[in-house]
Amino acid sequence: MTRQNIPFSRIGGEEMKKIFQRSMGLLILAILVLTAYNFNVVRNEMLENRYNALINDLRTDSATFGLWIKEKKSIVNTAKDIYDNFSYEELVAYNTENPYLNINNEDPSISQLYIGLADGHFITGGQWIPPEDYDPRTRTWYLEAQEAGKTIVSSVYVDRETGEMLVTISSPLYLRERFIGVISADVFLESIRGFLMTEMEKRNSYSMLVDEDGTMVIHTHRPNLEGQNIYTDLGSSLFKDYFNEAKQSQDIVRMAYAYEGEDILGIVQKADGRNWYLAVARVDDVTLWNAQLGYPWIFFVNALMLTVIVVLMGMILKARSELHSMNTLLTKENEKDFLTGIYNRRYLNLYLESVWRQQRVEALSLLILDVDFFKNYNDTYGHIQGDEVLKNLTKCINNLVRKKDVFARFGGEEFALVLEDVEGPEVEKIAQKSIDAVYHLAMKHETSPFKRVTISIGVVTVAPGKQISVREAIEYADKALYEAKESGRNKVVFHEGKG
Ligand code: GH3
Ligand code: MG
Ligand code: MG
Repeated sequence: MTRQNIPFSRIGGEEMKKIFQRSMGLLILAILVLTAYNFNVVRNEMLENRYNALINDLRTDSATFGLWIKEKKSIVNTAKDIYDNFSYEELVAYNTENPYLNINNEDPSISQLYIGLADGHFITGGQWIPPEDYDPRTRTWYLEAQEAGKTIVSSVYVDRETGEMLVTISSPLYLRERFIGVISADVFLESIRGFLMTEMEKRNSYSMLVDEDGTMVIHTHRPNLEGQNIYTDLGSSLFKDYFNEAKQSQDIVRMAYAYEGEDILGIVQKADGRNWYLAVARVDDVTLWNAQLGYPWIFFVNALMLTVIVVLMGMILKARSELHSMNTLLTKENEKDFLTGIYNRRYLNLYLESVWRQQRVEALSLLILDVDFFKNYNDTYGHIQGDEVLKNLTKCINNLVRKKDVFARFGGEEFALVLEDVEGPEVEKIAQKSIDAVYHLAMKHETSPFKRVTISIGVVTVAPGKQISVREAIEYADKALYEAKESGRNKVVFHEGKG
């Protein structure tokens, strides 16, 4: 509408506040969502990394265990050749410390070999003397091997005398395809346990070896659980659920559960070697939080901190924006004429100075407008009415000028209009238009010969720069105005000569 516009500060206030609050709300929401998303991504990655590390541990352990079992089996298998080399009579000549069975191996994890014969004889390379009524043919190791028809690893049992955890590796013996007995050796789990222990310590995780029935064979973290059954002895541990799952699937099963105050993250899978299950786990509080809760407390702290920061930032921004609009208001008000709302003398001076300083304008036209017989008007209609005249004609002329033109109240009933890069006939056109417009407002002025309010204009066009000063330009325009007054008023006069 008008060039004097609505000052910035007026769209401040309530509207700005609302916009501000709404965008702050959105910002907080966006940050919360982003934080949640990021956290979830990081959490999953972290968890995945830990599981992957555990899977590597499991693979190593499983392979080692399988190899270990294979090694023991091969000791027994090698000893089977004994029947090709010795006769029945030779073998049964010694019940204990049988020299043919004393293979003198260097492996401390395996006992001396012993044989149960189909005729009930029991011979051993070791020192154990069986009780009177001992019949090897009734022993599990004998029966299992006989039934399997191949080398087997028995279930775990605890040696009654030593209390050690044992498995038996047993293999059927045949002579010309006729079953004649079972050769066997006890394997102490102590050495595989030792191996797992040192490996696990290095990797900050631990292993559990569980046989098919759920007997804890090895537990490198809680050795007191060895020999216990996970179904009957472990209380409420979730481990058995994962164990069952592992038994059903051939895949690695991931575990996250708490046991006796420890948060455990792990994996369990059928081990190489036989129907045992190997679990590798680690005590890890942070990870379990992640695994079970999904969004751990860190997220909330994070979000809370961000919210606080955003709120603080919002408060600062708000204070700043209020200060800014107040400043703007002050500055704008400083530039405006109180009565008419157009630029004041102060602004006009600053503006002209800047034009002269920047020297970006080649031709500048300065128009000074003055109300004719205004003293008379005031005397006739009073000052208040006079003010109305000033306001009306300001509005009228303001509508004629371009946005970039500077229209200012010069003082009293005098105005200045500055047009950049407008000269000659164009300026004359604008000046004449202004005079006509005020004339056609037809504001009654009885004591004027025109019977209405009129204005006179003095114009000068100059090239702002060193040749001519601001003051001189104003003087020239003033001079032209004086001539307009002298020559009858309600007209425009151009300053001739240097400009
Ligand atoms: P001329 O045609 O020669 O310009 O005659 P004039 O009476 O307009 O000239 P002069 O400069 O002698 O008088 C200017 C008058 O303008 C003096 C003062 O009463 C009046 N005036 C100046 N400022 C204001 C104002 O803000 N409001 C009102 N109502 N009158 C003002
Ligand atoms: Mg005057
Ligand atoms: Mg006047």
